Amino acid sequence: MSASPDVRRRVAVRVEGIVQGVGFRPFVFRLAHELGVAGWVRNDEHGVLAEVEGPADAVEAFVARVRADAPPLAEVDRVACQERALRDEPGFAIVATGVADPGELPSAPITADTATCADCLAELFDPADRRFRYPFVNCTNCGPRFTIVRGVPYDRALTTMAAFTMCEACQAEYDDPLDRRFHAQPNACPVCGPAVALVDGVGREPAADSLLSDRGSAGRDDRVASYPPYGRMTRHDPVRAAADLLLTGQILAVKGLGGYHLACRADDESAVAALRARKHREDRPFALMVHDLAAARALVELDAAEEALLVGRERPIVLARRRAGAAVAPSVAPGAPDLGVMLPYTPLHHLLAADTAVPLVMTSANLSDEPIAFLDDDARHRLSGIADVFLVHDRPIETRTDDSVVRVVGGRPLMLRRSRGFVPASLALPVPAARPLLACGAELKSTFCVARGERAWVGHHIGDLKNFETLESFREGIAHFEELFAVKPEVVAHDLHPDYLSTAYALEREGVELVGVQHHHAHLAACLAEHGESGPAVGAILDGSGYGTDETVWGGELLVGDLAGFERAGHLWPVRLPGGDRAVREPWRMACAWLLEAGEDVTAPPAALAGAVDPARWRTVAQMVATGTAAPMTTSAGRLFDAVGALCGLRAEITHEGQAAIELEAAALGGEAGKPYSVDVREGGVPSAPGHTPTPGHTPAPGHTPTPGHAPVLIDPREAIRRIARDVAAGVAVSAIAARFHAGLAEAVARACVGIAARSGLDTVVLSGGVFQNRVLLEAVATHVEGAGLRALVPQRLPPNDGGIAYGQAAVAARRME
Ligand SMILES: [Zn+2]
Ligand SMILES: [Zn+2]
Repeated sequence: MSASPDVRRRVAVRVEGIVQGVGFRPFVFRLAHELGVAGWVRNDEHGVLAEVEGPADAVEAFVARVRADAPPLAEVDRVACQERALRDEPGFAIVATGVADPGELPSAPITADTATCADCLAELFDPADRRFRYPFVNCTNCGPRFTIVRGVPYDRALTTMAAFTMCEACQAEYDDPLDRRFHAQPNACPVCGPAVALVDGVGREPAADSLLSDRGSAGRDDRVASYPPYGRMTRHDPVRAAADLLLTGQILAVKGLGGYHLACRADDESAVAALRARKHREDRPFALMVHDLAAARALVELDAAEEALLVGRERPIVLARRRAGAAVAPSVAPGAPDLGVMLPYTPLHHLLAADTAVPLVMTSANLSDEPIAFLDDDARHRLSGIADVFLVHDRPIETRTDDSVVRVVGGRPLMLRRSRGFVPASLALPVPAARPLLACGAELKSTFCVARGERAWVGHHIGDLKNFETLESFREGIAHFEELFAVKPEVVAHDLHPDYLSTAYALEREGVELVGVQHHHAHLAACLAEHGESGPAVGAILDGSGYGTDETVWGGELLVGDLAGFERAGHLWPVRLPGGDRAVREPWRMACAWLLEAGEDVTAPPAALAGAVDPARWRTVAQMVATGTAAPMTTSAGRLFDAVGALCGLRAEITHEGQAAIELEAAALGGEAGKPYSVDVREGGVPSAPGHTPTPGHTPAPGHTPTPGHAPVLIDPREAIRRIARDVAAGVAVSAIAARFHAGLAEAVARACVGIAARSGLDTVVLSGGVFQNRVLLEAVATHVEGAGLRALVPQRLPPNDGGIAYGQAAVAARRME
């Protein structure tokens, strides 16, 4: 019903969602001007509140467009209207933020860091613009947010921009509701903002003038800035000089948004090999930065979903299939079928990419297993043996934030590492948390999660908590999130593993209620919850390891569960884990365990491993497996992949997590599955050999119900192991063996899930756990499950690996509070 134009109305319009710090009020202001309505707009503790008055159709158009045309960084959850009495005021105004009702908690005002927008990019490369080549250009639609925030409310004084006082021109932009930089907290220009400098490892400018380019200068010619740690800057353009050094094959440490990168030409083998050697990072693939989509297409094959991710405002590293003959040095990603590629996401990156015009290695600046460097003194200290020169700047980084990593599986994004660009965007909880809660996550690929009501905020990727600095980041990160999102946890969820440092942290928290959540149940719950579901569903949770309710090492689990609890409906055939954690680093040990389990001869290493494993050590391990000495039981799917990788002779030992499995997947991509290896699925039948008995007397974990009336469904790959051993010995191509193994296991996992779903009356199968980072396996299992008429639910916004555990724990804890 459209009102007659001479009828006037006034309505109060409340907008909720991510609407602060994203240019919402200026947008409302412009919209009001355009539609000719009077009134006002302001931020308050719920979001944005406006009152608009004018001809009824203009007011109606305002209400529709306030949602439909919202600024790019806003996420409007709700728009609610209430009729008000006419006031007949002149014009439209942005009014100061009102004092929040102390009884109300603030909504999430902090958004994620966002890639440079098209308007700012145009200015960056426009010689006539006052921000021409200024590496910190930003506006309300783009730029740093989470990485510079020190506290709330989100205001310049509580960011790392506090030390920079805006010049007149910047202040005028900041104060003008019609300007793109109205209330853009990190607003800056060459006159008043941060600056870059090129320095050596001890903070001096590189001595030789020849190091510095004379080709141009940034807009700082007449100004000499000083910053204590780095000495003085010259009138030269440090970015152009850095680009020149990169082009000559030097290794640079580049201070970015969430930390330092190490950079070099990606097409220069001697530079990349030198970086690899100095980094002590034997063969983990390096990420690449290319200047545009065309340059990315030259390196990797991209479908529409992958291109959308590459150019999206989050700018993650996208893992995509390497193009044959891609012009990258062999040392960039040895043996990897994929390359990790990203596009520039800060103005500094855009300048470097444009000035070099070659693909650059851009890898986290750290030694193996240390967290990424982000503090200037620490970076200089830790990286001086790696980088020849440092390209630094004087805007401090508040929170260390790694690049996010995504791959596309089945046309949908699969998050592998959720961090810069995505954090701290909130996720919904299907069952709201009745009390504020904290979930502490796992231990490797650690993240945490705070939640209240229906909102959960998952922290940035922290890494392996066993590293001291990482554990510090974990503690600091939790404290930071509790402040930013006003969560004072009354409930703390944690993994059941008694030795996880995240569990230890949870137990340290005083005056809280603890909720233990089984590891694979958390994986299942995370996937359900991110899709807004509560279950029940069947879950095929395949990962490296997680503490089981029977105190053994689980990792190839078939669960039936919902957010509240689960039953273990089945699992992978259990085997020995000889040497515990050493078996993770040395996949040949798992090959030995699986061969013995399959009844093969283990008196000597098989031919494919003969050169790589000392026969005496092999015999010792075979003995450990046979007797169960220092060899706990495991149902780990990750270790099965390790074993097969080792049996194929791909890798006896690994230098980074999942390496053997990743190489097995790579081999499978090039192989003809032909007739898949047969993997048996049946109810019951685990032998009662010593050690196959679960620890007696254990108490079941909360939420875990033993299966009534059914023996566990077993996925038994022993026949496949025998066939693999024979085929390797017979010289069958590794690619064919890998493909047959993937196909056989995928079919068996799907068959097991379909059987369990049928007897439980369920129609949904959740596929999660770190092993499902394997695209070949995930696509095959999902296809089989869907082919049987069931729904396959796959993680998308959170990683299938342990990076998703904290959110799953939060979803379970919230449900149990109900
Ligand atoms: Zn912008
Ligand atoms: Zn300025």
